[in-house]
Amino acid sequence: MHQLWTFTVPRTGLSAADAARASHVVASLPAPAVVTDIAGLLWLVDVHDPQVAEDVAGALRESRLAVTAGVQTVYDAEDRAAADFIGISGADVDLRLVRDGEVFSPDPPCPRCGYHDAFDVVRNGPLWIDESVLGDTEVANLPNGQLLMTRELTVRLERVPARGLVVEDVLSGRRRISDRFVAVRAEVSVPAPCPVHTTTLGDGYCSLCGAAHGALEGHFWLPRSAVGEVDVVSRHPHKAAMLLMRRSVLDAVGDARGLRRGDPAMVCPD
Ligand SMILES: [Zn+2]
Ligand SMILES: [Zn+2]
Repeated sequence: MHQLWTFTVPRTGLSAADAARASHVVASLPAPAVVTDIAGLLWLVDVHDPQVAEDVAGALRESRLAVTAGVQTVYDAEDRAAADFIGISGADVDLRLVRDGEVFSPDPPCPRCGYHDAFDVVRNGPLWIDESVLGDTEVANLPNGQLLMTRELTVRLERVPARGLVVEDVLSGRRRISDRFVAVRAEVSVPAPCPVHTTTLGDGYCSLCGAAHGALEGHFWLPRSAVGEVDVVSRHPHKAAMLLMRRSVLDAVGDARGLRRGDPAMVCPD
């Protein structure tokens, strides 16, 4: 794993002099910095090396342009190969959920940190999907971050077994229970990483909702006492979104169509 620094250099709303200065500064950044032009609106400057990041930060600071900076951990194949858990998601398919707007309604923001995002919704009724848009996809994302999976795949997972995976019927066609698809969630939620082993830059994670208020440095550690014996956990309080699966279990079904691997996580002995 390594850290990736990203600097955002604005290009709009600048005086002619500032615009010229911005072009000059970006053009003279050291070569390892990767500059991407975002539709003529801004430049993203990506740096994978701490020394170069310092040089770039210095050059941009001197320019006195309104540059914003962020840092994140980027994992590589080695980290995934050694991980205890790996984040999973599905294909992005326009599911044309029937009565989508009525199925989900927003939660209040987190009472501790005020955070709110698209996964912070309550479900008011059954999921009613249009299977015809799914083709041969076996795993797809639902709007609340939950995953839609084929029953066949959940049977394979139960055989492994995948402990802690909860399977829910969905409706399709004329409001009948789907033979082919189910929605899955986790029995266990671990919203925030272990505060002892996990290093964050900035304010860290909200222990209630799991929102990141700083950048993660190194591994995301899940406490053993929170994970227990399950093979599937959710990093969201509703236990539906942001699923992680034990790597050994995921390897058994890794060929599922639409299944995507996300960031790794480790289990610490707490
Ligand atoms: Zn919160
Ligand atoms: Zn720990």
